Amino acid sequence: MKANCCIYVSDSQRYSSGLAYPCNRCGKIYKWRESLSLHKRMECGIEPRFACNICGRKFKHKHHLMKHHKSIHKYNQ
Ligand SMILES: [Zn+2]
Ligand SMILES: [Zn+2]
Repeated sequence: MKANCCIYVSDSQRYSSGLAYPCNRCGKIYKWRESLSLHKRMECGIEPRFACNICGRKFKHKHHLMKHHKSIHKYNQ
C-alpha cells in the first residue's frame, strides 16, 4: 500500500525536477524559497543606493560597496 499523495518534496528535489522558485517580478530563479523571499524583500525593484565615490558604480547593499572598495580599489576604511 502506497500513499503517494503525502510524500514530502524537499527543496533540492524540487530544484532538480525543475521546480525552482522564480521571482514573479524580474524572473530571477532561486533554488531556495528563503533566497527568493529575501530577494523580494531586499533586492527586487529596489534602486541601487550606494555609489562608489571612486568609480561611481552603484550597489544595492552597503556591504557590496564595501567589498567593492576593498577588492577593486584596495581601499580600507
Ligand atoms: Zn525579482
Ligand atoms: Zn569603485
